[in-house]
Amino acid sequence: MNILIIEDEYSLADAVAEALKKEKFNVCIKTNGEDGEDEALTESYDLILLDVMLPKKNGFEILKFLKQEKIKTPIIMLTAKSEIDDKLNGLEHGADDYITKPFSMRELIARIKAVLKRTNRIEDTDILKFGDLKLDLKNAKLKCNDNEIQISGKELELLEQFLLNKNQILSREGLMERIWGYESEAEYNNVEVYITFIRRKLKLIDSKVNIKAVRGIGYKLEEKNDK
Ligand code: CA
Repeated sequence: MNILIIEDEYSLADAVAEALKKEKFNVCIKTNGEDGEDEALTESYDLILLDVMLPKKNGFEILKFLKQEKIKTPIIMLTAKSEIDDKLNGLEHGADDYITKPFSMRELIARIKAVLKRTNRIEDTDILKFGDLKLDLKNAKLKCNDNEIQISGKELELLEQFLLNKNQILSREGLMERIWGYESEAEYNNVEVYITFIRRKLKLIDSKVNIKAVRGIGYKLEEKNDK
């Protein structure tokens, strides 16, 4: 995910960039309106953070121009507290959201994620998908089309590992360590037992996804094509 920050306050721009990098975003900073607008027009970004009061060209002019040019990148305006009408002005001209300075990085990141989600730039992070299968992490449910089934905590943890490592073979030892821990006294065949439970549930909801055993190595998710 690439984010463009157009902000002339260096310290603020840097602090925002640092916070975003920690969230694994790629960041580019432009500190005047003209450079910011050029960058937004020529490079591809997933989101733009746009200050209002900027040297050379202000945020509203940039916003209007980008919309005229049919740039679809979502834009969050950064407005100062004193600029009371900025919010309305920005939203009227097609900004996706605004945030009032001073803001906490936590709030900013929450807003960014909400806008990215709303504009379909990121998928809901509480749902993991593979083939026709959806794992609802929040409600511990496994879904396939209109079917759904409740799963246990350990089944959820196991499935999460598979869905986060879709194309990898996961070893039984690795799964054992990650889910039951190094010091665990859990039975060595726990992984197998729970995978059997999961396979049963996959069948119950009629999913084409299966956990395939790779002999001598471990397990891998697969999607059956036929049937
Ligand atoms: Ca400014």
